[in-house]
Amino acid sequence: MDVYVKCGLVDGVRRVFEDMGLKSVVSWIVVLEGVVKGEGLENGRKVFDEMPERDEVAWTVMIVGYVENGMTREAYELEGDDFWEIGWDVGVMVGTGLVDMYAKCGRIGAALVVFRNMPRRNVVAWNAMIGGLAMHGKGKDVVDMFDSMIGEGVSPDALTFLALLSACSHSGMVDLGWKYFNELESIHGINPEMEHYACMVDLLGRAGRLEEAEAFIKSMPFAPNEVVLGSLFGSCYTHGKVKLGEQIMRELVQMDPHNTEYHVLLSNMYALSGKEEKANFFRKVLKKRGIKKVPGTSSMYVGGQLHQFIAGDKSHPQTAGIYMMLDDMIHRLRLGGYVPNTSSQVLFGCSTRDDCTEALEEVEQVLFTHSEKLALAFGLTSTPSGSPIHIFKNLRICQDCHSAMKIASYVYNREIVVRDRYRFHSFKQGSCSCSDY
Ligand SMILES: [Zn+2]
Ligand SMILES: [Zn+2]
Repeated sequence: MDVYVKCGLVDGVRRVFEDMGLKSVVSWIVVLEGVVKGEGLENGRKVFDEMPERDEVAWTVMIVGYVENGMTREAYELEGDDFWEIGWDVGVMVGTGLVDMYAKCGRIGAALVVFRNMPRRNVVAWNAMIGGLAMHGKGKDVVDMFDSMIGEGVSPDALTFLALLSACSHSGMVDLGWKYFNELESIHGINPEMEHYACMVDLLGRAGRLEEAEAFIKSMPFAPNEVVLGSLFGSCYTHGKVKLGEQIMRELVQMDPHNTEYHVLLSNMYALSGKEEKANFFRKVLKKRGIKKVPGTSSMYVGGQLHQFIAGDKSHPQTAGIYMMLDDMIHRLRLGGYVPNTSSQVLFGCSTRDDCTEALEEVEQVLFTHSEKLALAFGLTSTPSGSPIHIFKNLRICQDCHSAMKIASYVYNREIVVRDRYRFHSFKQGSCSCSDY
């Protein structure tokens, strides 16, 4: 039977189930899991409703399934039915799933209520709560929550500290960030990883303490990766530190010679700091070297200000909120029929199926952070619902973003206008004025 479940052969599961005349909760759950995996949540829900009795595991399968698929409305409905019958004594997993779900859809108060009422809380539950508070920029609450966690005798792990450090970074709590970083190994016995270093560089960079950040990078026990250097470069850009930016850019270009974004950012930086000559010189050098590709940039005016995004951009002051919305948006678009267009990408170097899945996920991640999608996510968070969203793209809108915009116009009931290099695309109720050129 397990084989059938793993392969998603639901009919096989059902047949075995009936042949064996199994009626226990355990066998129902095997069927439920099989149906959820093989036929999706809608049919899973039918099995769930049919079940003569439902235990904690059955609830877990359904709620976690909904949460993981971003079907928050269905999870709420399920909860509304008779979730409260089983009271607050839900498993750590269900509770954690709910905390995570509430936090991700912006209901941090509800997340706190569920969290406080959980009878048992392990480090995963604490991480969901602390991570949620950090995402919502509640730096002081994160710190308080961390103190309570220690007070209850739960040992924090590497993830707890990532949330903690990023909260310090977004709330400008530099000294506290340093304190936590120093305690990582000495008190909690956790070896700081690249991500922790990246958080610290971000923290120092945001606070404008660039020399300190640079010294910190030099003190690292391993060579900094692109994320660490990219973060420092971003801070140089924000704080107009051209000289240091130049230096880091050279290292970044060595690491990734084909990534032209850093080159362009640097020439922009020169232009912004009034060094137009140097900017022009740099552009010419780029051209000479044969790097002609201009990065796609999407811009929009909100609140009288110009907001610009490049692919994978994390320089916007509201980055955390934008990426939260982006996650939610991708979920909703997928439900609305969006299929990431990964066909144009070549998947190489994967020998196993798992490798392929991983490579595919990476390709998808790149698609999801195209500048148009970042701009759209920002537009959705920063303009009143129902109002049109206007985006300017310096190049032609890509096919994948085009189909995503169509679905978004329907899912969010918004008119989305994208002016690209060649024409206007006016997306309304799931279709575009260009009739898909
Ligand atoms: Zn695109
Ligand atoms: Zn179009």
